[in-house]
Amino acid sequence: MNALVKGIHHITSLASDAQKNVDFYAGILGLRLVKKTINFDVPEIYHLYYGNEEGSPGTIMTFFPYPGIPQGRKGKGQLTVTSFSIPEHSIDYWTKRLDKFHIPYEKPEQRFSETVIYFEDPDGLGLELVANRWDKRLGFTYGKIPFQFAIKGFYGITLVEECYEKTANLLVDQMEHKFIAETGNRFRYSASGKPGDFVDILCSPEALKGLSGYGTVHHVAFATETDITQLAAREKLLEFGLDVTPVLNREYFLSIYFREPGGVLFEIATVSPGFSVDEPLKHLGESLKLPPWEEPNRASIEQVLPPIQLNLKKYED
Ligand code: ZN
Repeated sequence: MNALVKGIHHITSLASDAQKNVDFYAGILGLRLVKKTINFDVPEIYHLYYGNEEGSPGTIMTFFPYPGIPQGRKGKGQLTVTSFSIPEHSIDYWTKRLDKFHIPYEKPEQRFSETVIYFEDPDGLGLELVANRWDKRLGFTYGKIPFQFAIKGFYGITLVEECYEKTANLLVDQMEHKFIAETGNRFRYSASGKPGDFVDILCSPEALKGLSGYGTVHHVAFATETDITQLAAREKLLEFGLDVTPVLNREYFLSIYFREPGGVLFEIATVSPGFSVDEPLKHLGESLKLPPWEEPNRASIEQVLPPIQLNLKKYED
C-alpha cells in the first residue's frame, strides 16, 4: 500500500502586516511568492504562499496577515520553530545577510552535529537555518542570493509539548513516522528520514501555554499523495479516535484537519493539483487569485486588501 503520510507539506502562520511579510520572506529569505490569494474562510484577509519555483511540498510557508490582531505567545501546544535547510558552508553568508538587514539572531549552536541559527521574522515567528551537507534538493532564490547559499526548503519543525509520548505515538502509529534521534528533551521523528520532514518534539512541561496571535503558527500540514490516500489516512485517524474534519477543497490541494493530543493543529494536504492550477508557473503569485465562489465578489475583496509589492531590489546583497 502507498504511504498515507509522506512528510511536511506546508506551514501556515499568522502575521500582522502583509507588506512586511512579503519583504521578509521574499526579500530577505529569497523565497518565491507562489500564490497571492485570500483566506477561504475569511475572504477579506490575504493568504500568501511562499516556496520554491513551483511551490513544492516541503518548501511552502504560508501566512494569514491579520491587521490589528494581538501578538501571540509561543509556547506549549504550538509549533514554535520552523527550520529551513541551507548548505553546510553557508553559515557565514547568512549571518552577514541577517546583519546587513538588522535581523537579530542567536549565536549559532550545534545540534545533532549540524549548525543551527535561530532568528525571528518581524512578527516574532520562530525560525532557524540548519546548515547540513546531506540535503540533496537544489536551492532556490528569487532575489540575488547565490544558489550555493540558498535555502532548499524546510529542514523540519519543532513542537513544544507537555510530554512527548502521546504526540510521538500518533506520529509513529498513525502517521508513518519513525523515531530518528534524541538529545536532551528533544525527540526527533520523520516520515522520510530526510531534511524537510523532521518533526522535533520538545518535551517542555514547564513552558507556558502558547497563545494564538501574530507571530505564531496556525497549523502544519503533512503531505499525502492523492485524494484516495487522504481518505484512507482520514479513516485511520477517525478509528484512532481523533476528531477529523471532512475533506475541504483549498483549490491548490485538498485538506483535512485535526488536533494532535498536545494541541497543535495538524492538516493532511494532497500533493496535487498544486499552484499552477489557476495561473502559469512563470507567473505564479503575480496577481490576486480567488476561488471560483468568490470571483463575483472580486471588486469588494480587492477594495479591502492592502496593495502589496515585491521589493526584491531593496534586498540584494
Ligand atoms: Zn494549511
